[in-house]
Amino acid sequence: MRNDDNLTAARPTFVTHLECSMTGERYDADTLQGLSRAGRPLLVRYDLDAIRAMVSPADLALRPADLWRYRELLPVRRAQNIVSLGEIATPIVPLNKVAAGAGASTLLVKDESRLPTGSFKARGLVMAISMAKELGVTTIAMPTNGNAGAAAAAYAAQAGIEAVIFCPDDTPEINVREIAAQGARVYRVNGLIDDCGKLVGAGKEANGWFDLSTLKEPYRIEGKKTMGLELAEQLGWELPDVIFYPTGGGTGLIGMWKAFEELEALGWIGSKRPRMVAVQAEGCAPMVRAWQGGERHATRWEDAHTLAAGIRVPQAVGDFLILDAVRASNGFAMAVSDAAILEAVDDAARLDGLLLCPEGGATLAAWRKALADGLIAPDDRAVLFNCATGLKYPMPDQSRTLDRHGPIDFTAL
Ligand SMILES: *Cc1c(COP(=O)(O)O)cnc(C)c1O
Repeated sequence: MRNDDNLTAARPTFVTHLECSMTGERYDADTLQGLSRAGRPLLVRYDLDAIRAMVSPADLALRPADLWRYRELLPVRRAQNIVSLGEIATPIVPLNKVAAGAGASTLLVKDESRLPTGSFKARGLVMAISMAKELGVTTIAMPTNGNAGAAAAAYAAQAGIEAVIFCPDDTPEINVREIAAQGARVYRVNGLIDDCGKLVGAGKEANGWFDLSTLKEPYRIEGKKTMGLELAEQLGWELPDVIFYPTGGGTGLIGMWKAFEELEALGWIGSKRPRMVAVQAEGCAPMVRAWQGGERHATRWEDAHTLAAGIRVPQAVGDFLILDAVRASNGFAMAVSDAAILEAVDDAARLDGLLLCPEGGATLAAWRKALADGLIAPDDRAVLFNCATGLKYPMPDQSRTLDRHGPIDFTAL
């Protein structure tokens, strides 16, 4: 039977409980939760046996191509709590000329720029805000480097929830304006994103805000998990050899890793996993330093700087989950320079017509470096994540001018 509308379809839910990602301690899923008592992220657990008995990949194929087609693996219990702006399945775009130029057979980009508010933050925030609505939240507060705040503001507007957003004072101008335009109160703070996070922590005590910081509530990761579900389905339930992920808080990398685990438990994929590559910028690479040092936790990166604002995260609450996934997958962590990022953005646009955001450019720069260093092979099937639209970022002015009143040598144009 065809379900014409993923949003209103009857939705038995399969959530059993929440679980501390560090200690395994169980928590009730039907009350508002933040971090675990151990101060670590909470993960949503499902009755996967019941899901396996209830749905199959063939059932999914009949549903509309959006994020809600995975509803059995998502936490929202009541359809009326879903806030949606049209979370479409994003395309996988090949970079054929870039691949050929590097001597590789293929290179694929999961182009997340097409999502509402122009970034994959929509996946996490549509879930977190829908759940906040379900659990009776009236005001959310959040730190952001730009895109998360924009997605939060948009979905909060739809949910009728107040949003208070704190961003570093040098956050891209368009993001700050976009957040305000979508009805949130946005504050520029003279600090970095973790400093903004501390303000949220202090403000929630005083004002009763709900803290929607990444991984400090259980549901953004469930939304980001859909990148892994969607990728698996789009590739015919056969995962790629390697995934390059631009890593800030790491929610997407952790979420995809969780998705693969759930898919294997469902029997929808086998045990093959992609190597997970955490890509960071040389000016802010706490995960790379910890990975190289064999540490399970990362220390704060001081004086963090990079033009790739989305991955300028000096300290991440899910550090050990990122590093565990990278190691378990036999992957690696790699830092790239801002110059290599700019070159990658320029090449993908000029050669293959795909305008990446700088963070997406970072994954391309890392792929090139990994290939050159022999960390991956030319025939490895690699997937890069382009997480936001390149249109939100400044582009160099390469225009020429013409005087229409003077003589024009058309052969020279
Ligand atoms: C948030 C963001 C990232 C980092 O994503 P995480 O899952 O938080 O690590 C990368 N790129 C862009 C454009 C972002 O907005």
